[in-house]
Parts: sequence; C-alpha cells; structure tokens
Amino acid sequence: MPLQLYNSLSRRLEAFEPLVPGRVGMYVCGPTVYAEPHLGHARGPIVFDVLRRWLERQGLSVRYVTNVTDVGHLTDDGDAEDKLAKRAKLERIEPMEVAEKYFWAYFDAMDRLGVRRPSIVPRATGHVIEQIELIETLLEHGLAYVSNESVYFDVSSWSAYGELSGRDPAELVEGTRVEVRSDKRDPRDFALWKRADAEHLMRWRSPWGEGFPGWHIECSVMSTKYLGDEFDIHGGGLDLVFPHHECELAQARGAGKPFARFWLHWNMLTLGGEKMSKSKGHVVDLFPLFERIDPMVVRFHLLRSHYRSLSDFADEALQASAAGLRRLRSAYASWPSHAGTGTPAEAWSEARRRFAAALDNDLNTPEAIAVLFDVARDANRARDSGDLGCAAAARALFDELLVGILGIEAASGEGDHAELLGAVVGLLLEQREAARKRRDFAAADAIRERLGTFDVVVEDTPDGPRWRRLD
Ligand SMILES: [Zn+2]
Repeated sequence: MPLQLYNSLSRRLEAFEPLVPGRVGMYVCGPTVYAEPHLGHARGPIVFDVLRRWLERQGLSVRYVTNVTDVGHLTDDGDAEDKLAKRAKLERIEPMEVAEKYFWAYFDAMDRLGVRRPSIVPRATGHVIEQIELIETLLEHGLAYVSNESVYFDVSSWSAYGELSGRDPAELVEGTRVEVRSDKRDPRDFALWKRADAEHLMRWRSPWGEGFPGWHIECSVMSTKYLGDEFDIHGGGLDLVFPHHECELAQARGAGKPFARFWLHWNMLTLGGEKMSKSKGHVVDLFPLFERIDPMVVRFHLLRSHYRSLSDFADEALQASAAGLRRLRSAYASWPSHAGTGTPAEAWSEARRRFAAALDNDLNTPEAIAVLFDVARDANRARDSGDLGCAAAARALFDELLVGILGIEAASGEGDHAELLGAVVGLLLEQREAARKRRDFAAADAIRERLGTFDVVVEDTPDGPRWRRLD
C-alpha cells in the first residue's frame, strides 16, 4: 500500500505521490523566535522528522524547509506590537539579538529531541525583497490595495478565500473584531505590508514608504522560493489553519502559484486536559523539562498518540511513556548484537510489514510503536528459549525502526550497563558450568554466592542456569 496522508485541503486521505519523481519538497511553519522553546514547539518537528525519515526510507530525496519568523509577528492585544521588538525592549537588547538567542535555543532543544536539522532554514528578515516583490504582483493582479502607506489583501476580490479552513468569507465579517482607526476597507482584509510608526524598530524601505512585512507573506514567499511555485507538502499546527495558512494560500494562488498539494496539520497539546497556550501562560518550557525527563521520553510520548489527535502531558501519562520506553530499551539491551550462527533474516518480516502499514496509514505512530512492543515480547521469549539468532535479529530490527525511523535512541545509559552486566554474568556462569563439569563444586558454589552479593540470583534449570537481578 502506498503512503496515505490526510490532506486538510481535500479533507480526506489521499495516496501520496511526489510531484517530481524521486524528490519531495516539504515546508513546515517554524517558530517565532522571541521566547524560550516550549512543548508546543516540539510536536510538529518530531512528526515531520519521522515523515522525512519515512520518505527517505522509500528512496526519496527530501528537501525540508522550516522558516523562522524574526519580524512581523504581531501581538494580538490591540496595540499590535511586534513580538520580537517587545521582547527586545524588555531585555534592552537589539531585536536581532532576541532572534539570535531564541533561534539557537530552539535548535538546541530540537537537537536534544533527536530532530534532524532542516535542509534550509530561511529567516523572514533575510527575504524582505522577495516579500515586496510578491506584494507588487498581488497589487498588479488587483487583489491588494495601498492604504496610508500599508498594503492589505482584498479578501472580497478572492472568491476562493476560505477554501482551506472551510470558512465562508461572508460569515467571517461578523467574527472579525472591528479595529479603531483601521486603514482597512474591510475588517477581513489582512496586512501584507505595514507602515512603520516613528518608534518602530525593524523597518525597511518599500515602494509604499518605510515599513515591515505582514506575518503571512513570508511563508508564501520562502516556501516557493526554495521548493518551487508548486510543491508537495505544507505542514503546521492546527491553530495555524486560520488565518495564517488560509492567507498564505490566498497570497500564493492570487499571485499565480499553485502552491502546496498536501496540507498536513498536527493537533494541539493539553496539560491535564487543558489546552496549552502560550498567550495564557499555560506552557511547559523544554529545557527545565529536560532536567527531569529524558528528551527521548518526550519524543516517545508524543509519538504514542496520532499527530491528528490531542496529546496530553499530565505527569502520569508521561511516566507511563517513560516506563514503556524503559521496557523496550531493557529488552533491546538483553538481546545479543551478534547471534553467532544462523541469524534468521526473515524472522521479523511480518513485524516489519505491520510497522510499514501503520506508518503508511497517515503516519500512525502509536500503531507502529505497538508493533515494537510485540517484537520485544516475542524476542524476549526467543532469548529465554535460547534462540539467540532470533533475538539478535530483533535487535537489528530495533536499530532499523525504533532508532532509524522513529528517531528514538534504543540504548540508554542504563541499557548500556545492562548489556555489560549480561555479558559479565554470562561469562561467570560459563566458568561455573566448567567447574561443575570437573566436579569442583566448591568453586561453582563460590561463583554463585559472590553473584548473590550483587543481587544476582542464579537458578539451575533442565535447560541450564538462568539468572535474574533482584530489584
Ligand atoms: Zn507559515
């Protein structure tokens, strides 16, 4: 079965075929870099990192673009200040210092979460000329107007407006806050370019006077600049569908660009059932979280729910994920890396097929993880019954799928110790068997007793000695 993805634009599952055979262009809306990275930043990059690895696994070459917003993202509290500029005033530094500081904080956090760096990370401030060019095209097409040195997109002139979010443009009027002293003709219109007031810090010269670009225009510009006028996948959080993505689509298509073919949206995170929201101060910052929880557990936890469902970060849920990952890791650590003779290559072909079917079904990572739990259980049984070839093949399968595709490190520090312990105890038990064979029971008992002092209990069974460690 080919890869099926849920396309928000058509509102159904569609078989994914790249526009250009062998290549995939993917654009994901990135962060506005004005504050510490938080949990809300983590889900999208992790989901798209898995999608990217899965596409590459099919032999496709992926160009993955994530933008960074360092200008134009306005606060929505009436006075509409630029988020970066506001922070710069607060910290008494340059807006670009704010951007630089939180840009790297964001990517440091993504590194810890095992998210591979994008192919290109364009910044809005580095593409002001291109944004002005697109605005000029929209003006030429009669889809925008200049008002008091600002430029607005004329929603009433674009009948397709609302096609992505499914909103009826006529009904949108009522939902829009009427602004005092607005330069807009219609409250639904959105800014492409804003005139800079005297105290505004970030400003560029334009055909309409000194100002700065609106927030939505950067994504229409930077995605098509690096991926072409038409490209494969556009991603973002569900909260971006409207207005951000609706505006992106209107700007791009209004300028004659077919734009993204697939729109993928990940759902929001909750904290004990309540929606996490930066604006309400209800967020969990990543670096303090990493001090008490392995970032891999955070990644594992996020992948345990489907990207289109809500994911909750209550402590119990997170602890359950930590325990689950520990189980997978300790199983992995107990399997030999080399089986010696006769590794059955096809041992896990059914598991591999089920894993692929799960990911091909709109990236169903919880189902893919369930397959790995089945493998862990069966491989532990194989190990206990002495089928080390089968267990070694499971280890190779985990390297391929858990590590390679889901991006979760299989060996924790703890796991490494467990592996070493297994090898050392195995060696001692061989010595004990040799002692018993030459009827040197004193030596055999001594080994057993010494192991006991380290809480390692040895039991003799008809299949030979078994050992376990007391908790
Ligand atoms: Zn965007």
